[in-house]
Amino acid sequence: MMALAAQRSDWTMPALEPVLGRRITILGSTGSIGVSTLSVIEHARALHGADALPVEALTAGSNVDVLIAQALAVRPKIAVIADEGKLALLEQGLNGSGIQTAAGRAAVIEAASRPSEVVMVAIMGAAAIEPALAAIARGATVALANKECVVAAGSVFRDAIHKSGAAVIPVDSEHNAVFQVLGGGDAGDVERVTLTASGGPFREWPLERMRVATPQQAVAHPNWSMGAKISVDSATLMNKGLELIEAHFLFALPPEKLAVIVHPQSVVHCLVSYEDGSTLAHLSAPDMRTPIAHAIGWPRRISSPSRRLDLAEIAQLTFQAPDHDRFRCLGIAVDCMRAGGLAPTVLNAANEIAVECFLGGQIGFLDIARIVEETLDVAQRSNARDDDALEGILAADAMARATARQACQQGH
Ligand code: NAD
Ligand code: MG
Repeated sequence: MMALAAQRSDWTMPALEPVLGRRITILGSTGSIGVSTLSVIEHARALHGADALPVEALTAGSNVDVLIAQALAVRPKIAVIADEGKLALLEQGLNGSGIQTAAGRAAVIEAASRPSEVVMVAIMGAAAIEPALAAIARGATVALANKECVVAAGSVFRDAIHKSGAAVIPVDSEHNAVFQVLGGGDAGDVERVTLTASGGPFREWPLERMRVATPQQAVAHPNWSMGAKISVDSATLMNKGLELIEAHFLFALPPEKLAVIVHPQSVVHCLVSYEDGSTLAHLSAPDMRTPIAHAIGWPRRISSPSRRLDLAEIAQLTFQAPDHDRFRCLGIAVDCMRAGGLAPTVLNAANEIAVECFLGGQIGFLDIARIVEETLDVAQRSNARDDDALEGILAADAMARATARQACQQGH
């Protein structure tokens, strides 16, 4: 397993009090995961007093109004906005509060470097690579919601974690579930890890209807309320493809030990099957505050305000194989996982641009798979060195973005 801390033998179970005293930094506090993280913190404060889970830093991309309101509510030492053009507004909004302010990409990375016990990485996309690495480098406990950084730069993350000994607790619900099921056990005995997929809003749509699906329809996820990009990824099943690659790196599992099953109720989050024929599952209501609370409290358990599971009410759990013909992104991602090298980096970058263009109305829903495939073809034909150091990865990411953007413009 990739340095996930459950493997470490030198851990003793801490008392709950120091766990509640953990200082937390939230990168991407204004997004869906960021807001859910704040909800877990506020819940802890309501139960244990205002000093519980103090906040070191909050960072956001450009949503300055929400960032100001959050900072005034939870009183971090610093609030950082990536969009430098919004610094004056941030300063104005926090004037007299005693909360420091900063802006820009470097300031987000600096925020991750500040001394906090836990860093929640909830920035969207590959923009999380460098801030997440900064938190890992200083040995923080990293609650990792962002999956794109692991997909784009898996080997760099693996090496950085080995070097610093940082504990990385996956927050992505399926991976958090696998982490819990493995519970310190050796992933070497595992025969298969199966990630569940809800199937998204188009699970039963025919291709002709998917062709004309609107961004609004694509982001209307049946079970989860999430940011726009991951919602579209769930609709194409690219999300599950990215998650296979995420699991491949996080748990050091070879591609042939990873599988996907569609489970529309999103109650079972993973199945871990062992060589003796046993299969262990993790269940919870589909509410991200459960894996968030698990990651913040680990290895203790802290209370979460999340919905509780009521199986009698749900009554039926169903499972079906994914339809690779209608959801081509899943197979494309599996091919990239098998190919290794920079293929996952290119896949992720092309997908980020294709999703952005789909959300902007420039391309159709089924064009997302086409753009990703075309970008992978171009990257394969180029003579770019298969250099998986960070510089090589960032260069491949930039090149793939440019190629995909061009393809989006031409395709229209
Ligand atoms: P979101 O779009 O709602 O929020 C993203 C956050 O990142 C916002 O605070 C935004 O301001 C910030 N941000 C965006 N671009 C940035 C940049 N360039 N620099 C700095 N900050 C930037 O996204 P989300 O749904 O909260 O997802 C966040 C991450 O967690 C994604 O990687 C997603 O795949 C992963 N994830 C989310 C869920 C979920 O339920 N939402 C579940 C599993 C994993
Ligand atoms: Mg997930």
